Amino acid sequence: MKYIKRKLTIEKVSVETIAKKFGTPTYCYSYGKLKNNINNFKRNFKSFSPLICFAVKSNTNINLLKEIKKFGLGADVVSVGEMMVALKAGIKPNKIVFSGVGKTSHEIRYAIEKKILLINAESESEIKEIEKIAKIKKKKVQIGIRLNPNTDAKTLSQISTGKKENKFGVNSKSFIKLVELYKNSKNIELKCLSVHIGSQILDYKPYEKMLNVIMKILNKVNHKFEFIDLGGGMGISYTHKNKVFNYKKYNFAIKKFLNNYKSKIIFEPGRAVIGNTGILVSKVIYIKNSGKKNFIILDAAMNDLMRPALYGSKHKILPSSKSNRISKEIYEFVGPICESTDKFRTLKNFQKLKEKEIIAICDVGAYGMSLSSNYNVRTKPLELIIKGSKIKIIKKRQKHEELI
Ligand SMILES: *Cc1c(COP(=O)(O)O)cnc(C)c1O
Repeated sequence: MKYIKRKLTIEKVSVETIAKKFGTPTYCYSYGKLKNNINNFKRNFKSFSPLICFAVKSNTNINLLKEIKKFGLGADVVSVGEMMVALKAGIKPNKIVFSGVGKTSHEIRYAIEKKILLINAESESEIKEIEKIAKIKKKKVQIGIRLNPNTDAKTLSQISTGKKENKFGVNSKSFIKLVELYKNSKNIELKCLSVHIGSQILDYKPYEKMLNVIMKILNKVNHKFEFIDLGGGMGISYTHKNKVFNYKKYNFAIKKFLNNYKSKIIFEPGRAVIGNTGILVSKVIYIKNSGKKNFIILDAAMNDLMRPALYGSKHKILPSSKSNRISKEIYEFVGPICESTDKFRTLKNFQKLKEKEIIAICDVGAYGMSLSSNYNVRTKPLELIIKGSKIKIIKKRQKHEELI
């Protein structure tokens, strides 16, 4: 995203061109950024060449998954639906891991039939269920057990997953017990210890703590795990206040860990791969002054991008044409939906906007489209991928006929 001759552009295409050609609201992804993110991620950890499983829940567009697959990534899925999309995108089963606290027997059966790399189980009952199904199918199923390391990820409470009050994984005591119970099972192969402590984590220290907890437990169990799955969660900078995640320090901590415990590392990044690749292009429908502030009423709403309403998260908003006229009014960017939480940002000193102007909401590649809904019987936006000056539709705009 940069301004070329005062016009906001994604790769070589101006945001105004996109709005004119395709209408709004529209999600646009930069192929170049996606490629950079993946290559950087690989480079950061190249000394131990991890298996990188893209967290499909962050973006489920099958055409994006096909691109991600071409870089050799696998998939981390959290439902049978996501598994089907990943497989359909051509991702090999031996690069798919399956997480989630409530896998149904149908989902487990499907995963076993497809011979995916790992089912990362999150409770004793789930392991029992997997064992039962494996026995019926006369198979030996590779599983991981997800540990809840009780580590504070220092992120929003809504997206924290590794503390004892969170529903995810099992605590250290149960973990040790489960390893003893299942390490010699006929139908289960205990291959992996997995963790995932949360999302949008900007400090490497929680990961360091998590690695220490894992090491302590590994020293207590009499079993060798082939894989250590460290989950995802690496944060990106959404506003200038966010720092950048220190990959060097995280890499260093993992290398230290590996010196003491030889194993294959798995990562499950979502946001770090796709987050900053996407923008949501939207048009100002009306501007309404309420005395205290100006409501900038957009044609994009919380159904298109739910993160601000769901977590109070802040996304940068940029005008499509840059000017030097700064508004003295406070701008509150809202959508047309009948909910007071349907707002994106409240900003001071924004440049003066007019009705019908185009703006872009930035860094919406992760948990943007994948969290969208049809609330208010609103159709879901179009999705485009931009490569240089080439534009490709990767998902058509939904039509009302499909909904009614
Ligand atoms: C959501 C999730 C991820 C991805 O998290 P990001 O913050 O997008 O990297 C990885 N693993 C599991 C188990 C998850 O639930």
